[in-house]
Amino acid sequence: MSENKEPNLSETEKQIFKAIEANDVVLLKTLLAGIKNVNIVDENSMTPLQHAAYKGNKDLVQALLDQGADVNYGEHQHNYTSLHFAGLSGNADVCLALLLAGAKSQVMNTVGRTPSQMAAFVGHHNCVATINSYIPKEDVDFYTITPGVISKVQVLPTFLSESFHKFIMQTNIHPIKVVLNVQNFVGLSEHLSEVKKALEFMCEREIKRGAEKNEVMSFKFHYLGYIIGEILKVKLRQTAKKDELEEEKKLDMTELFTRKLLKPGKDGQLEIMDAFLKECIREFPYRDCTLFRQMVASLAGKDPPTALSVLTSAINGQMGFLDSISVCNTCGEHKPAKKCSKCKVVQYCDRNCQRLHWHWHKKACPRLSQSLIEDAQVKPDAGELSTELQNLLVNN
Ligand SMILES: [Zn+2]
Ligand SMILES: [Zn+2]
Repeated sequence: MSENKEPNLSETEKQIFKAIEANDVVLLKTLLAGIKNVNIVDENSMTPLQHAAYKGNKDLVQALLDQGADVNYGEHQHNYTSLHFAGLSGNADVCLALLLAGAKSQVMNTVGRTPSQMAAFVGHHNCVATINSYIPKEDVDFYTITPGVISKVQVLPTFLSESFHKFIMQTNIHPIKVVLNVQNFVGLSEHLSEVKKALEFMCEREIKRGAEKNEVMSFKFHYLGYIIGEILKVKLRQTAKKDELEEEKKLDMTELFTRKLLKPGKDGQLEIMDAFLKECIREFPYRDCTLFRQMVASLAGKDPPTALSVLTSAINGQMGFLDSISVCNTCGEHKPAKKCSKCKVVQYCDRNCQRLHWHWHKKACPRLSQSLIEDAQVKPDAGELSTELQNLLVNN
């Protein structure tokens, strides 16, 4: 254990800490070019990387990693690592950058908490989900085809490994988001069978690891594979060229799935999506595991939660907080940036999510707008509502 002492820092090294304090990425890069070793500590025994992580600044973190900052190095007196600080910052992208650089996620600080436990402690559930969903790249490489090696589990073409790695680490597991990601991540939609096969192997491997078995990961791989299987079925039907599918054929994958899954039921509940997800849970092959029993039990209880919230809790361990967060009406992404400009009730990530939902929302939108007006007339003193109404009138 080193005594608390004034560190012997050069002028440039001192300025590195100041540049981080000021969030000055350009200055930091210039300074970094002038020093040999970036694994230094200040008077609080913190490294530049730990400071950058605590500030939640992805660019600072990346600049330091690019210059060889050791992601697991530290002398912090309470044994906090860079990943602990990233978890406290609330920036999930910073957590991911550190994990990709090899940050250890199971190391404990002096009060016995891992980085994801610290993130949970301060309510940064996005960081918790990112850390808990992290999968080392070697796990993917295990299923990637190696030239000259004959192995029945190596089913993924090499160029897919990066997309596939990102795909299995996604933390928003809303089915529409999964389908969007299949389309967005390069190469996946052209190699659905290989992706499904790899997910099946990974699902089995996680449950059969003996003492190290991971039911959550096993179920997540099953879930992702199940959705890929559904996409495959739709593609097969589309190529079967049946006349009644003429209209379906004009739609892309995400349009088809949003039309199918987001169809509102009688009281606005998404009954079809719920049934779809319940079927997926039922098809999990390892029915005697604890996670499966828990999911079935919560779905069978009185006033059961939706299958989506049961799935989300099971995979991301986020019990009970989801209801209080605003989400995109199409893909379930948290804190979406946009609102429907007509009703100002439903929210979306972007224009694409709004476009995908419009098929169903166009029927509900006038009714939602109307109830906004009626509410404002019944309660003329409701300040917030009147403002909303004014906006509505201005925009129209
Ligand atoms: Zn969205
Ligand atoms: Zn609307």
